[in-house]
Amino acid sequence: MKMPQHLSVEEGHLNIGGIDTTALAGAYGTPLYVTDLDRITGNYRRFRDCLSERYPQVQVLFAAKANGNLAVMQALAREGAGADVFSSGELDLALRAGMKPELLLFNGSSKSRSDLARAVEAGVRVSVDSLDELTQLDAAAAEAGKTAEIAFRVNPALEVPTHPKIATGLRTSKFGIPAEEISAAYAEALACEHIEPVGIHCHIGSQILEVEPFARAAGVMVDVAREVTDIGVRLRFVDVGGGLGIPYHHDTDPAPTPEEYAAAVMPVFLDGIAECGIDPAFWVEPGRWLVGDSSVLLVGVNSVKRAHRTFVNVDAGFNLLARPTMYDAYHEVIVANRAAEPADGTYTVAGPICETGDLLAQDRPLPAPRAGDLIAVLDAGAYGFSMSSQYNSRPRCAEVAVSGGRHALMRRAESLDDITATMTDPAPLWKR
Ligand SMILES: *Cc1c(COP(=O)(O)O)cnc(C)c1O
Repeated sequence: MKMPQHLSVEEGHLNIGGIDTTALAGAYGTPLYVTDLDRITGNYRRFRDCLSERYPQVQVLFAAKANGNLAVMQALAREGAGADVFSSGELDLALRAGMKPELLLFNGSSKSRSDLARAVEAGVRVSVDSLDELTQLDAAAAEAGKTAEIAFRVNPALEVPTHPKIATGLRTSKFGIPAEEISAAYAEALACEHIEPVGIHCHIGSQILEVEPFARAAGVMVDVAREVTDIGVRLRFVDVGGGLGIPYHHDTDPAPTPEEYAAAVMPVFLDGIAECGIDPAFWVEPGRWLVGDSSVLLVGVNSVKRAHRTFVNVDAGFNLLARPTMYDAYHEVIVANRAAEPADGTYTVAGPICETGDLLAQDRPLPAPRAGDLIAVLDAGAYGFSMSSQYNSRPRCAEVAVSGGRHALMRRAESLDDITATMTDPAPLWKR
């Protein structure tokens, strides 16, 4: 199996960032998320550099929902990244990580009044998703005596090749304002006393393994840029969203590179802004591409059962990695303590959750796993821990960072007490 540079097999053991995963599992226990921070900064630099070679004003905003660990956000903040934040919680994370407010964009199709007030207070730009929200944001800014800088989220009505649950720019999607109505929306924004429209924003979907849809979206965006410039908006950024996919099937998926992405998108953007006579910053919001391949989820084998298929029962399932169950997603799996052994049959890796769909990997060729073995689920860095739950009252696991050949905890495991910590006895509290 093709392996990215930060993963290797040494003396039969899977290593990440030069560290033996079996040693990490021994030191910290399983299940365990292990994240190579150097891989993340490397991914970030590559993504930024191939865009900024073509245009100096490029800003990469990390999509915080992909991985909200503070150590990850801090590593990206030190590189100069901003963030796409989708809630007051993600805004808080980004600010705590040291990201500059002017490099954040508060996104979301359903923001509460307190979200809007928080965005105004923090002085971050807001991607407004409806005219109703515009009015509310204007009021929030008026109350704070401030001006809120905004973009509108454009719905570009594009079909994209990905799982329907993560196609976000379809005409029927809940996100954004239809491109035909966008000029009218900007005209309303210009008329608001406490709003200044400064950007345009879209995001067409996630895990897209072709670059052509991004070029099409950029085309829609420069058309929108022209229209809104004509009515008097002074655009300071054009945000094309995220969505570049990664090859979860290491040997068979196409693996579009950021260089290919830049080559497809930047000419459309550059020609478009030149025609409009403007020079807005180019903003882009990768999530998965920056962090997806940086983490492995290490799970221990509890038991093996020969049934209709051979099930390898491990100590974590969709409580810690929801993607296989939620999106039918594929993740490569490796028996980490016997990584050099040849496969001798096909095995289905099943989690401990009380749901039939709790399968991490199905019918995979592996060297016969045994109780006590360690299985590594690869490419778990995006939408992995960040989508985890305590379902079945399973505490969430620890997360370990590796960097420069060293390792350290970046999130402790939850305990059983953590599960009940927020529960209260209603007996003394009943009210009428
Ligand atoms: C989820 C999301 C992203 C990131 O998507 P990836 O596929 O992880 O790159 C970027 N922008 C917005 C608005 C999003 O909702």
